[in-house]
This record gives sequence, C-alpha cells and structure tokens, in this order.
Amino acid sequence: YLLPNQGDNIIRTPNQKYEFSEKSLGVVLFKQMKKYSDEIAQIDAVTEASDTHGMLLKRSIRTAVEMQNRGVTKGDIICICSSNNRNSCVPYLAGLFIGAKVSALDPIMSYEDMKHLLNQVPPSIIFTAHESEQSLKEIISDLNLLTTDIIPFNSIAFEAFLSEKLDENEFKPVIVNDVFETAVIFFSSGTTGLAKGICINHYTLLQQSPAFKMLGFDLNIVLSFASLYWISAINLLISSLLYGQTRLLVPDFDEDQTWQLIDKFKVTTLLMSSTQATLLIKSNKPPNLKFESLKHVTVGGAPVSLNLFNGLEENFPQAKVIQGYGWTEVGGIITISSPNFSQDLMLLKNKPLSCGRPIPGIWYKLVDLETEKALGPNKRGELRLKTDYQMNGYYNMDSSNAWDSQGWIRTGDICYYDEDYCFYVIDRLKELIKYRGWHVSPALLEGILVKHPAVKMAVVIGVPHDQDNEHPLALVMLTNKDNTINEDQLRKFVDDQVDDNKKLRAGVRFIEDMPKTPTGKVRRYFLKMQILSQIFKN
Ligand code: AMP
Repeated sequence: YLLPNQGDNIIRTPNQKYEFSEKSLGVVLFKQMKKYSDEIAQIDAVTEASDTHGMLLKRSIRTAVEMQNRGVTKGDIICICSSNNRNSCVPYLAGLFIGAKVSALDPIMSYEDMKHLLNQVPPSIIFTAHESEQSLKEIISDLNLLTTDIIPFNSIAFEAFLSEKLDENEFKPVIVNDVFETAVIFFSSGTTGLAKGICINHYTLLQQSPAFKMLGFDLNIVLSFASLYWISAINLLISSLLYGQTRLLVPDFDEDQTWQLIDKFKVTTLLMSSTQATLLIKSNKPPNLKFESLKHVTVGGAPVSLNLFNGLEENFPQAKVIQGYGWTEVGGIITISSPNFSQDLMLLKNKPLSCGRPIPGIWYKLVDLETEKALGPNKRGELRLKTDYQMNGYYNMDSSNAWDSQGWIRTGDICYYDEDYCFYVIDRLKELIKYRGWHVSPALLEGILVKHPAVKMAVVIGVPHDQDNEHPLALVMLTNKDNTINEDQLRKFVDDQVDDNKKLRAGVRFIEDMPKTPTGKVRRYFLKMQILSQIFKN
C-alpha cells in the first residue's frame, strides 16, 4: 500500500477511506451505539457486571441532558478523573454528545500535577472517583475556579444525572460545525517543564480509532489497563462503540491477575505498555493456562527490548506479538505491523526490534538534524510526519514550533527505517524522560537542582531501564570543587521535593564540564550519548 517512491526520500501512503461521514464524533458514536444496542459494550472484570451498548447509551444521554440542564454547553470543558469502572466513560460520552470538549486526569496523579493540568485546561465540571474528590475540591479552591462543579461518581449528585426522566428517543446529539474542531484535550508534559493540553479533533479520532480494527486486530474482547487519561484507552473506547465490541474494564494493572483475566474472559487482544508487559513476563504464569482465545498481544508506548519480545512470544506461543509506535499528538498510531498484511508479518518476523511499518494516511520523512535533508533507508534522523490525523495545537499556547516550515509535525524521536520500510525508534530528541509511561520533564528537575547553592549547572537525562522505560539521572557541575556535598545528598534534596514518578532513580553524577554549541547551549543529546556509552560500557 505504499505509494511509489518519488526519489525524494518521502514515504507516502494513500489516504484511508473515511468510513464515518458525519462531522461530529458524538453523532457517530450515538448512531453506532443505537445500532449495536443489544451487544455487550463493557464488562467490569472485578464485579463481572456488564452493560450493553444500549444501556451505556441511555446513561450517557441522561448525563448529557442533565449537563445541559446545568448550563454546560458546546464551549465548555468536561473533565473525568477516575480509574476504569462502568460509569467512568459515561460523562465522557455525554460530553461528546453535547459537543463540549472532554479531558481526563488519572487518579494516581499527584496533587501538584493535577493542579497544574487543571490550571492549564480549566473545566466547567469534573466527574471524579471518590478518592480524588477532596484533592480536587482543594485544587479548585486554590485555583479560584469558582464555577467548576465537582460530581463524585457513586454520589447522590451523580445519581441525579443517571435518573434524569426523559424519553431518550427525543435526544439529538449536538452537531459540531467543523470536523477539525477540538473534541478531546489530552495531556502531555512539555519539554519546558510545563504540561500541555493536546487538542485532538473529531476527524483525527474518527480516523485513528478504527485503525486497530482496519489493520486486522481481533477486538472481540480487548484487555487494556489504561484509564481515560491515555489516548490508547480513548481509541479503544471509540473503536468498541463504533463496531459494537466489548471492553473488559480493569481498574488497575496487576500482573498476577492478568494471566487469570485473559483466560477467564477469553480475551482476544491484549494491549499493554512496555512496562506492563515486562512486569507480566517477570511474574509467575500459572501452569496449565493455554490462552487459546488470545490472537494478538500488542505492546508499545516505549522501546520494546529483545528480551521482552521473546518473553511475550514464549508465554503466548499461539498469539502474534506486535509492537506499535504511537504518539498522542497524531491521535494514536505512527507505525505498527498489521495482522491483515501478510507481507508485514513476514517482513517483521525476523525483526523483533522494529516498531512496525507505515499506516495509511500518514507520510513519513527522516530528517538529518544538521542539513534538514530527508534521509534514505538505514540513516538516523528525526522523524517528521505529514498527515491530517494530528492535533490542532497545544491548548492556549503558541504551538507553531511543533511543525517545521514545510508543515511537517516534528515527533522529536530519532528513528530510522530499513529497506523494507520497517521502522526503529532509537532515541528521543525531545528531552522528556519516560518513566513507566509517565513523562518526566528534565527542566523541572533541573530547576530544583540549580536552586541548591552547590550546583552551578545541571542536566537531567533518561537512562534506559529494562522494566521502567527510563530512570532520570542528573549530571551536575558544582559551583566549586571544594564543596563537601555528595551525590546521595543532592539526590535526596531533589527526591524530597517531587512526586514518586519523578525521583532521580538513576542518581546524580558530578561532571567537570558540559559540551556546548557555539551559541552556548548545552549539547544535551551529545552529552547524553557520552554518558550512556560510559554507563553501558561498564
Ligand atoms: P506520548 O507522548 O505519551 O503519546 O508518547 C509518545 C512517545 O513515546 C513517542 O514519541 C516515543 O518517544 C515513545 N514511544 C511510543 N511507542 C514507542 C515504541 N514502540 N518504541 C519506542 N518509543 C515509543
């Protein structure tokens, strides 16, 4: 399906056929949920209670109407803060039905992180799990968001949403004016230390969410652990509603329980982050379980090591293990291998480290960082993409830097592709460190370090870690050599001031000098390569 090479090192694919012709995601979901109203939409893996698409539709319509009664409209932002349960997606869908913008927090986030995100993207109404209610109340009051309503799930207030008396057949979802209007705002940590809201439009979600199905994954029963904060969860939610399929809801990832869940619920596709997959294969697989239903094991979000790939193949010999490379800013997948294309599978059979091949609707170019020229096979450069599946920009921020002068969006990933167009992610140019799927901003940690009187300059880099993706390591130049402070004291100085997921797990190293560009900027990438080669040589 790749279009002929025009000799300019641009990998072109044809556009994907636009399957759902309406402009509004809410309208499409509404129609499809009606169509599949008797099929099972979701099963709570803990209680085993389930909902049909029709039941979910009813609760979402009622919530939408109650929101409208409270004056929430198109221009508003709705936020959900909950782990997965049978009601967590209800206000999300209701928000889409009334044409509002929807965002989500993960309840395991720290108070400071939530506060920062709510300040960036202030919602009119927040639906929350009980455990986050108090923190959210304090944050809302701290931020002086006087008009923001907080509705805890499992409360009388939420019951009022569900028991709204109305004839659902009267309800008409709101049509948005433009398919490129923002539908959902995701969050990602910025390289400058500021988290950003990533505005994803209706078109991108309607194109990217069906991708798993179009590419041939068996989505009959999907097991994934992501809360609504993560784009993979939203892609799966949308796809299950579009095609009348079933999601298995699990509030938290637990590696020991996962084996049982796959077997008990006859899961057909298992979707995991690299961290979860590593934990799973290190845990004890119960003997005698065969997982005959399982066809696809998909893993991604961070590099997949050979050990991990082999471990998954050994544990699930009858399933296809497939790596995907995704990015929130393009609404989901960048590359993946498709079970539908036997060519993909044949090519990738002997290339476990590849993160897949191009998907329809995206053009790819590897750019030499010095010359900005597009590179051919087996050359490393920054991956840039041209596609209609992309963000509108970062919420309330100048986002022009996200695209190059020719309109290609910069992934900030250093990649290469081989002669078969199989892609490999080598490193990240963007400075963000990924710890268990969470973004850790070096700028934030550096900002804390330089507040210490003994620190002259600090650069924080990510050191690859088998299980956790990366651990932050601080490289520090001291103000003067006679300082008596040691590495552990400095590490503690930082760790005492940050959330658990941002701690300097790879420690602190003192260095004498930092390589700089002619304009005096630290050559981070170069420094990182130097230090990593020292670490891994030993
Ligand atoms: P996010 O910003 O949370 O959407 O994460 C996207 C980033 O995660 C990408 O830009 C890559 O840096 C990284 N990533 C995602 N999938 C993979 C993969 N399969 N291999 C290596 N890195 C990945």
